[in-house]
Amino acid sequence: MEDLEKSALTLIKNSKDGLLQSDLWKMLGLDSREGSRLVIRLAKKGLIRREQVMVNGRRTYRLYLVESDSSAKRILVDLTSILDIPCTTCPYIESCGPGNFYDPATCPLMDSWLEAKLENRSRLERMSLRY
Ligand code: SF4
Repeated sequence: MEDLEKSALTLIKNSKDGLLQSDLWKMLGLDSREGSRLVIRLAKKGLIRREQVMVNGRRTYRLYLVESDSSAKRILVDLTSILDIPCTTCPYIESCGPGNFYDPATCPLMDSWLEAKLENRSRLERMSLRY
């Protein structure tokens, strides 16, 4: 990303209620042609969004930064391996914790579940070695 784009994004980001594109151009010392190109480039990259507004009877755009919301990032997580964990149906889950009467470190249900997982994993590894 070029410096001009970074400067524009910083100015847009720092504007509380969006920034009129003409104000952005003035701040950056750009003429309308250069400014329009810059705004369109940033919009095409998905870094800003433009909202059409009327100012003094003229149509223009107010610019907003498109937040790179981390929650919007998609992380695929495979939960298959823990769907049958005994805790999901355990009536003691609320009182279970390290040092408590019900403790994952000493829980026989957890032990059985982990042993079954390890057994299954070992079996799969042995099978993959055969083929
Ligand atoms: S560790 Fe055992 S006692 Fe604790 S929530 Fe899981 S199954 Fe229940």
